[in-house]
Amino acid sequence: MPVSVGAMDRNWVHHAISVVEADANRSADTHLITVPIPRSTGVDVYLKDESAHPTGSLKHRLARSLVLYGLCNGRIGPETHLIECSSGSTAVSEAYFARLLGLPFTAVMPTTTSPEKIDRIRFYGGDCHLVDDPTADLAAEARRLEADTNGFLLDQFTNAERATDWRGNNNIAESIFAQLEREPHPVPDWIVVGAGTGGTAATIGRFVRWRRLATRVCLVDPEGSAYADAWEAASGHGSADHRDGPSRAGRIEGVGRPHVEASFLPEVIDRVVRVPDAASVAAMRVLNAMLGRRVGASTGTNFWGVAQLVGELRDARRSASVVSLLCDAGDRYAHTVYDDAWLSRQGIDPTPFEAQLSELFAG
Ligand SMILES: *Cc1c(COP(=O)(O)O)cnc(C)c1O
Repeated sequence: MPVSVGAMDRNWVHHAISVVEADANRSADTHLITVPIPRSTGVDVYLKDESAHPTGSLKHRLARSLVLYGLCNGRIGPETHLIECSSGSTAVSEAYFARLLGLPFTAVMPTTTSPEKIDRIRFYGGDCHLVDDPTADLAAEARRLEADTNGFLLDQFTNAERATDWRGNNNIAESIFAQLEREPHPVPDWIVVGAGTGGTAATIGRFVRWRRLATRVCLVDPEGSAYADAWEAASGHGSADHRDGPSRAGRIEGVGRPHVEASFLPEVIDRVVRVPDAASVAAMRVLNAMLGRRVGASTGTNFWGVAQLVGELRDARRSASVVSLLCDAGDRYAHTVYDDAWLSRQGIDPTPFEAQLSELFAG
C-alpha cells in the first residue's frame, strides 16, 4: 500500500490539480463527426472523434481522470512515482500527465511491445519496464514496483469505471448529448462501444439512466474476449456457442480482454455484438474510405456494430441516429492491421466482410 500524502503536501496537491485543470482548459472538446452513409437507410451515424485529444486517443480522458482521482484521494504527492500496467495508449496518455506534474512514470509491459509504442511513452518522458517472461503476471510485477518505489499504481482496469464523473463534468457522454442537441434525432437509439477497461461503456451506460434517456448501449466485442460471455452470463442471454479460442485474442488493440476486469460493468449494457477480427478490419477500411482518413482497428470494431444496427433500423423503417467512437487514428497500427503481410500471417481475410458492408451501404 502506498503511503498517503500528508497534510504538508496539500499545497502541492492543490497546485497539481490546478495544472491538470489548466491543461483541460487549454484543450478543445473533441468533434462529433458525421459519417456519410446513404440517406436511404434513414439513419444518421455520428462518431465522437477521440483521436483529436493531445495524446491521440480516448485514453487521454481516462489518464486525466485517474490522475485526478489519485490526487483527490490523497495518494499522489510531489514525490510519488506513478505506475501502470499497460502496453498501449493508456501508458502514453499517463506519461503525458505525469510529465505535466513533474512526476516519474513507469509502464510495465511485455518485451514484445512494439518499438513505436515504447518510443511514444519515452517521448512523453515515461519509463518502460519490460518483462521478458511471456507467462509473467504483469499486474503482480506492477504491484511489486509500486511497493518498491513507494509509488502509486494508477490501475486502469480497476479504477476506470470509478474515476470518471458519470453524472457530467463534460464526460464523454455529456459531451456527446450536448453536441447532438441540434440534430434531427438528438437522442440516439444506440451508442456503440467496445470495452478495454470498460470505463467508457460504464460512463455512457450510467449517464443515459441518470438523464432518463431511451438510448441503449451496444457493446462490440472482438474475438477471444471474455466480455461477451460475461455479459451473457450476467443478463441471462445467449449461449456459449460462439466462444473463440484464447489463442486468437488480442489482435484488435484497445478492446477485448482475456479475463473480465473489475471496471467492466455488464449491467449497464443492453446488447452485445460479437465481431470477428476480419470484420473489424473490413469495417475499418470501409470507414476509412468514407472519411478520407485512417482510423484504428477498434474503431472498425465499433463501425461493424454500427452497420449491423443501421441494417436493422433500415429494415424496420425506423428513422433514428446511432453514435459510436473514433477511438484513435490508424498511424499507430502501420505494422499490424495496416500491414497486409501481418494480416495474412494472422489468417485475417476481411474481403467477405467488406462485401457485406458494400451491399449494406449500396444505397
Ligand atoms: C481503451 C481503448 C478502447 C476501449 O475503451 P475503454 O474505456 O477502456 O473500455 C477502445 N479503443 C482503443 C484504441 C483504446 O485504447
